Amino acid sequence: MPKGKRPKNVGFGITPPSETCDDPKCPFHGDVRVRGLFLKGVVVSDKMQRTVVVQREYLQYIPKYERYMRKRSRVFAHNPPCINAKEGDIVLIGETRPLARNVSFVVLQKLGRVKTPGKP
Ligand SMILES: [Zn+2]
Repeated sequence: MPKGKRPKNVGFGITPPSETCDDPKCPFHGDVRVRGLFLKGVVVSDKMQRTVVVQREYLQYIPKYERYMRKRSRVFAHNPPCINAKEGDIVLIGETRPLARNVSFVVLQKLGRVKTPGKP
């Protein structure tokens, strides 16, 4: 896609970033489509090229103890240059086709920051 072209509308009420990029794996300027799951999490690593690790924390009910257990899971997500999420960013990610061996999500939006990066 040529540079400077208007960003695609990915729908779901997500506003495209003000910057542009020429990444073919970008949901706004490339050719990936977002469908399926949407997840929210914290970026715990941005050391890979254009890929971040997003960690989610959730509660799972354990009937035997009638209590909730805190669980976490890590998801790899593609990080297009126009969004450029950094460690400590709270991000919204959306499911796409597989972009790499273990990447099938893409960062759609930055929602904020956590106070202590690495310890969400
Ligand atoms: Zn882009």
